[in-house]
Amino acid sequence: MTVLIAGAGIAGLTIGLSLHQVGIPFRIFEAVRQIRPLGVGINLQPHAVRELFDLGLEQGLDTVGLRTEEVAYFSSHGQLIWREPRGMLAGYHWPQFSVHRGGLQMLLYDAVRQRCGDVIETGHAVTGWTQTDDGVTITLTDRKTGQGLGTATGDVLVAADGINSNLRAKLCPDEGPAHWGGTMMWRGVTRGPRFLTGRSVTMTGRKDVKFVAYPIADDGDGSVINWIADLTMPPDYDWAKQDWNRAGVLDDFLPAFADWRFDWLDIPQIIRGADQIYEYPMVDRNPLDQWTHGRMTLLGDAAHAMYPIGSNGASQAILDARILARDMRDHGVTTGALQAYEAERRPKVKALVLANRGDGPDKILDIVHDRAPDGFEDIEQIMPLAERQAFADGYKQVAGMDINALNERDPLIGAE
Ligand SMILES: Cc1cc2nc3c(=O)[nH]c(=O)nc-3n(C[C@H](O)[C@H](O)[C@H](O)COP(=O)(O)OP(=O)(O)OC[C@H]3O[C@@H](n4cnc5c(N)ncnc54)[C@H](O)[C@@H]3O)c2cc1C
Repeated sequence: MTVLIAGAGIAGLTIGLSLHQVGIPFRIFEAVRQIRPLGVGINLQPHAVRELFDLGLEQGLDTVGLRTEEVAYFSSHGQLIWREPRGMLAGYHWPQFSVHRGGLQMLLYDAVRQRCGDVIETGHAVTGWTQTDDGVTITLTDRKTGQGLGTATGDVLVAADGINSNLRAKLCPDEGPAHWGGTMMWRGVTRGPRFLTGRSVTMTGRKDVKFVAYPIADDGDGSVINWIADLTMPPDYDWAKQDWNRAGVLDDFLPAFADWRFDWLDIPQIIRGADQIYEYPMVDRNPLDQWTHGRMTLLGDAAHAMYPIGSNGASQAILDARILARDMRDHGVTTGALQAYEAERRPKVKALVLANRGDGPDKILDIVHDRAPDGFEDIEQIMPLAERQAFADGYKQVAGMDINALNERDPLIGAE
């Protein structure tokens, strides 16, 4: 009884740890030769943090991230539109975390190696699979050399190989590249003064010109600030450079934010302070009608890559992993378990992918900008409190972030 997992990203490592917790053997095959702490900041919502705590990673999360205290939205004039407490301050029994994606991946990777031993094969890309009534066989390749590395067999295959999933492409040969909605993102990390609560996630501007900033660490003297500058580009922009590590050029986006100097954050200064800037298109994938094909299923971004709006990509990958592991515990390592997982997850995540295409909770910025493009004296005159509250609550329902529902539901698997 073995689960084969393609990809040692957030989803693949979390399902590995979860399978270990419920006593199911697994092996992970990762395409890159060495797992390194790549990426910049991401947010983990309380529903995902609950699962990581249940995996015994509370202390580790406090080492690699910061407990988020609030989310706040500002107009492109730097005026406050909405702020709300987050995590335990909002009433959840679990915090929200702002973390470095690479730090989180290394935390999960080290936990897998410590708890499970030598179960991760790096430098082994999964390039195909066959299945019979008895099991599944995967084909392994060294991506660098193209050399075949043989096969491995197991009971089921979980494809957690990310937004450009090779295995999904085999299921959907006509799908082609990821879907781009017209926005480019420049991302960086800058050491700077603490702003607002020192643990605030901020969204400023509007869809076409937006700046997201939040601390992912506090070094005692100030914050390590993760930031993302979004710009809508012309439809003919050469966006198709989907490499998380592609370097960005300051002049391509800094001018759009040149006068965004506010008393709570000096955005041009933050942008200029980054050691390294990365450029990446805001892309997602169209929702699929089927994730499970006999003994294989899709997990995380391979199943449902979404725009990084509303901070849910990694959180949903973690939820996928926990629910699939629970279903394997309850149904055995069977096609029935894969189907139960898909039946629960696919409709929910589809709604979220589509909500994020509509800008998710960040839509509030556009509404205010349309009503008051030159700024406002009193936000209440532009968008009354009840409307802003309803807006924030609506997205939480779609994202499964309802406070009472999360606090009151039974654990998915339980504590390690
Ligand atoms: C290098 C990198 C940097 C990232 N940086 C950011 C960021 O800064 N901000 C952000 O919001 N999101 C980032 N992401 C995406 C983010 O991690 C995911 O959106 C989310 O966490 C869901 O995780 P996932 O495990 O489904 O996918 P991922 O975290 O993308 O993991 C997929 C894994 O599968 C591996 N893989 C790919 N193809 C194969 C194959 N054929 N066989 C075996 N393994 C394979 C990849 O190397 C990777 O380790 C990054 C992803 C990567 C890989």
